[in-house]
Amino acid sequence: MTQPTVPGRRVAIVTGAARGIGAATARRLARDGFAVAVLDLDEAACAETVAAVGKEGGRALAVGADVADADAVDAAVARVAGELGPPVVLVNNAGITRDNLLFRMDATDWDAVIGVHLRGAFLMSRAAQAYMTKAGWGRIVNLSSVSALGNRGQANYSAAKAGLQGLTKTLAVELGKFGVTANAVAPGFVVTEMTAATAERLGVPFEEFKAARAAATPVARVGHPEDIAHAVSFFASEEAGFVTGQVLYVAGGPRG
Ligand code: NAD
Repeated sequence: MTQPTVPGRRVAIVTGAARGIGAATARRLARDGFAVAVLDLDEAACAETVAAVGKEGGRALAVGADVADADAVDAAVARVAGELGPPVVLVNNAGITRDNLLFRMDATDWDAVIGVHLRGAFLMSRAAQAYMTKAGWGRIVNLSSVSALGNRGQANYSAAKAGLQGLTKTLAVELGKFGVTANAVAPGFVVTEMTAATAERLGVPFEEFKAARAAATPVARVGHPEDIAHAVSFFASEEAGFVTGQVLYVAGGPRG
């Protein structure tokens, strides 16, 4: 993708970027020309992604913050602005699962999942939009999921991921006149620690789990973090300014 051309449009924040889809996205945005804040719960856990960005010639900053904690979010975004520059790209990627069938799901697991995905994306977007609207340019990309369409054992997660689609569309409506777009990427099955943990919980060897998912996918393979990073890169690009409020299913088939 073409690098942003206007000075000041060069800092991105990726939440949950210590590993998985977030790490691949941070690396991709760095290759696209952004200085990247690699934000995750534990600052030390961000070191690997920061080093990978550095090795590829990019610039990254490790930032520790819980996206569900309002004070931590405000402090983290202010720190990014101070150390890297005003953030104009935000990727709300941090996520957790606490799967269970409805009758076994306790309220703390409901609150935890809604808290990280929905409250987290709200808090991060609220903090970051101040810099974007001031710059007159911005890109917010939220990580939804095919689970937004409904998935057994994921009442909390699918509600959060569907909620993120509503949040995305409202951000698009409110922020469009300031040059800020908001879009969502909704991945299918992607090989990460999150899906490895799902296989383990179900008692299925990960290789077997992946093979079954590939067999059920039209393109006959599973997804990789780079597949998702590519879609995020498109939404974050200069040329995607007329695309907003959209949900792109990146799932190896026509899901959604
Ligand atoms: P992952 O578990 O490998 O990584 C998630 C990262 O988020 C971790 O580094 C974790 O520490 C961080 N995180 C969790 N809670 C946080 C918090 N409160 N504050 C800051 N960081 C926090 O997961 P992944 O598979 O890379 O998933 C990334 C995103 O993509 C998630 O939103 C997930 O729901 C979504 N997604 C994943 C898949 C998939 O198949 N892997 C499919 C659809 C959507």
